[in-house]
Amino acid sequence: MTLWFTEKQTKSFGITAKLTKGLHSEQTDFQKLDMIQTEEFGNMLVLDGMVMTTEKDEFVYHEMVVHVPLFTHPNPKKVLIVGGGDGGTMREVLKHPSVEKVIQVEIDQKVVEYSKQYLPQISCGYDNPRAELIIGDGFMHILNSENEYDVILVDSTEPVGPAANLFTKGFYAGIAKALKEDGIFVAQTDNPWFKADLIRNAVRDTREIFPVARLYTCNIPTYPSGMWTFTIGSKKYEPLQVETSRFFELDTKYYTPELHKASFCLPKFVEDLCK
Ligand code: SAM
Repeated sequence: MTLWFTEKQTKSFGITAKLTKGLHSEQTDFQKLDMIQTEEFGNMLVLDGMVMTTEKDEFVYHEMVVHVPLFTHPNPKKVLIVGGGDGGTMREVLKHPSVEKVIQVEIDQKVVEYSKQYLPQISCGYDNPRAELIIGDGFMHILNSENEYDVILVDSTEPVGPAANLFTKGFYAGIAKALKEDGIFVAQTDNPWFKADLIRNAVRDTREIFPVARLYTCNIPTYPSGMWTFTIGSKKYEPLQVETSRFFELDTKYYTPELHKASFCLPKFVEDLCK
């Protein structure tokens, strides 16, 4: 018997992967969690039927959500991750020697637990002495923080269930308060083919709160439409003007200093969402 997993990316379109094995499946307190083994992309974490990450292509998302803001900030020391339970964002942040402390606030302990078991190359940063994991609501953590972080990374699920609040203007305002006076934040903001309004709203809200607001993209084969966006808000530093001398050699597979700049070059239909 052959088994296939399909994520319905819209009501009438989806992507399908051939399964070699189902590894774990449960309804947690927050979402339906499935860990499956696929023939093409290796182990895959699926939450509420949506692909979160896979062993084969995870590096694209995790490198791009982290290295663009961390190279834009000249001296990131204290970093907050909201969500990111698989651990890939944490792993990439820890590659920056200036970072003294990374705090991750993930709402669902089970995502961390099963990522440690089935995605060990992604979740390998949790035991680092600079890393601290808090199981809790990132929205509440932001509300209770002030002038604390150099960089905040929002590595969340889609704006449904526990992540619904993480795409609101009130949340972005809270992030501005939680950041230091020269802080930077990045949020994953889905894809321009099926979620144009989400991107339009995120860029507009960020622009109303931060002096610098931009959108950048990357290509992820297992995410809806393959084209993914990140919205970046910065109080001071311009992501397009990072001095070349500040880049140092990093062990990456997608991110390069050239790509850092190129990722802000948008196709016209995506640029139009930022107007
Ligand atoms: N890279 C992925 C993507 O774009 O699809 C996101 C992956 S990561 C696994 C997303 C995490 O955000 C999940 O583990 C989920 O539990 C967590 N999350 C959702 N809402 C949250 C909240 N309010 N506070 C903290 N974590 C939250």
